Amino acid sequence: MRAAVVHAFGEPLVIETVPDPSPPADGVVVAVRATGVCRSDWHGWMGHDPAISLPHVPGHELAGVVAAAGPQVRAFAVGDRVTVPFCLGCGRCEPCRAGQTQVCDEDFQPGFTAWGSFAELVALDWADVNLVALPEAVGFDAAAGLGCRFATAYRAVVQVGRLQPGEWLAVHGCGGVGLSAVMIAAAAGARVVAIDVSADALAAARAAGAELTARAGADVRELTSGGAHVSLDAIGSEAACAASVAGLRKRGRHVQVGLLPEPPRVPMDLVIARELELLGSHGMAARTYPELLALVEAATLRPGDLITREIGLDETPAALAAMGEGGPAGVTVIRP
Ligand SMILES: [Zn+2]
Ligand SMILES: [Zn+2]
Repeated sequence: MRAAVVHAFGEPLVIETVPDPSPPADGVVVAVRATGVCRSDWHGWMGHDPAISLPHVPGHELAGVVAAAGPQVRAFAVGDRVTVPFCLGCGRCEPCRAGQTQVCDEDFQPGFTAWGSFAELVALDWADVNLVALPEAVGFDAAAGLGCRFATAYRAVVQVGRLQPGEWLAVHGCGGVGLSAVMIAAAAGARVVAIDVSADALAAARAAGAELTARAGADVRELTSGGAHVSLDAIGSEAACAASVAGLRKRGRHVQVGLLPEPPRVPMDLVIARELELLGSHGMAARTYPELLALVEAATLRPGDLITREIGLDETPAALAAMGEGGPAGVTVIRP
């Protein structure tokens, strides 16, 4: 198969032909039809993730067709259209037995703990626990974003943040996950203020449904007459995390969504003074995908609208490098 391979952290990926994977006994090989480029891939490529060993193939936001299945797989077969969460659960550990596969003790993450989807084929463990069947109405490009950014945003806003209609959501950082959060919150009848350093990103946020947009450093408590009820750090930086916490209304909920390579300083004085909640959100369990897919199928949520660029595998090295500056506005999808 053709794949985009990392031979040295931070050095350009090499497009080359490598051996085809074969399915694990309880897993599958998926023929990748679309895979998103995400800032997490950039972190991995830069060497920020100790789980990665070289040579390595990044890519974790995938959709495709089952090309081969191991003998123990019961629920899926060759030809099925599928996607997966970026964090696959083993189905056996304590979090998995409680249905929380997104925080599995053994977590399998394509593109991190194993070769990922910047390739024509990707092998995935534990298929019955983690594969999500795609409805016909949901295309591969749109589905590629569900595994990471869109599902992550959905869980952060709806399941973890518990955002209610009429409440204010502040989104700090309008990359893929931030724009997804804007769209999900607006569709849920909440009011959204989007914050970013880039005018292009803020324009994309308005198009996704943000009522207000502001440059980083703006006073969210002033803009929202008292503060956001729920606020996300959707980029993963000390400044965005601190601004998110500081922009909350009393008893508001901060949800940390962006990955943080270094532990940030958090204004805990505000947390006690305003009785804030600090919450983490890490992907979404496969079993909760149907509620999200139903909204996509009904076109209430349109993850495909966030895609601004479709590229081939050959353009992957440059697209990944561009994520270092936050990437272009909107979402880039690779079709291997
Ligand atoms: Zn991602
Ligand atoms: Zn597990």
